[in-house]
Parts: sequence; C-alpha cells; structure tokens
Amino acid sequence: MSETIFTKIINREIPADIIYEDDLAIAFNDINPQAPVHFLVIPKKPIATINDIAEEDREVVGHLHFVAAKIANEKGFAEEGFRVVMNCNKFGGQTVYHIHLHVLAGKPLGWPPYQEGLKIE
Ligand code: AMP
Repeated sequence: MSETIFTKIINREIPADIIYEDDLAIAFNDINPQAPVHFLVIPKKPIATINDIAEEDREVVGHLHFVAAKIANEKGFAEEGFRVVMNCNKFGGQTVYHIHLHVLAGKPLGWPPYQEGLKIE
C-alpha cells in the first residue's frame, strides 16, 4: 500500500502529539478533535482498511483495543465511559488508509451516527 501521513508520524517525519508508543502501536491526539478527548491508536504496521486485516494481524489489531483501554485507565476516563470507532472505506467515513481506532471521551456521546441525506463525495 502507499504510505500515508500516519507512517510519517510513526517515523517522526511530521510532528504529532504522541501520547503512547510500544513495539506494535502508537497513539496520538487527533488534529481535529470531535470530543473533549479524541486520540487515535494505530498499528505501526500499515494496514489500509479493516478489509485488509490478515490472519497474522489479529494480535496487533486486538492490541489496539488493549492500548485504548490502558490509556483510558491512565487518563482516568475508563469508568465514566468512552467510545472506540474504526471507520472503513467510503461509506464508513474513512479518510486515512492506515487503520486507526478513534478513542472519544470526556462528554456523553450521541448515537446513532447515521444522518438522513448525508452525502459523501
Ligand atoms: P478517518 O476519517 O476515520 O480516516 O479518520 C482520520 C482521522 O485522522 C481524522 O479524525 C483526522 O482528524 C485525523 N488526522 C489526519 N491527519 C492527522 C494528523 N496529522 N495528526 C493527527 N490526526 C490527524
């Protein structure tokens, strides 16, 4: 797959507000937050979409959730609650083709996400 902006963040080629890193994953604050807390947890391995997760990627993809919960605990919003979202392709609203868990917290969050008449270019 072609390199995305997230590979550049992993390689420190562009700046990001990195809040966590280990051998498999990195987490950084979203540049355009949609909640008081909004960060992304991504694998270091570039996997384009959920559809591209291979059998050998199962551990790393599970690890993203482990990291989300670990940060939620450390930041103190785990008990209050939060949401994790992974968008896939056009109808899912994916814009960066390197899988990432959105972690949103800090206020009650709305549901459902479907909006009548929503147009995607
Ligand atoms: P998605 O639309 O699910 O693919 O989400 C991509 C997310 O990446 C969006 O929430 C963007 O605000 C976020 N984003 C894009 N570029 C950057 C960046 N350089 N640093 C942090 N977050 C970014």
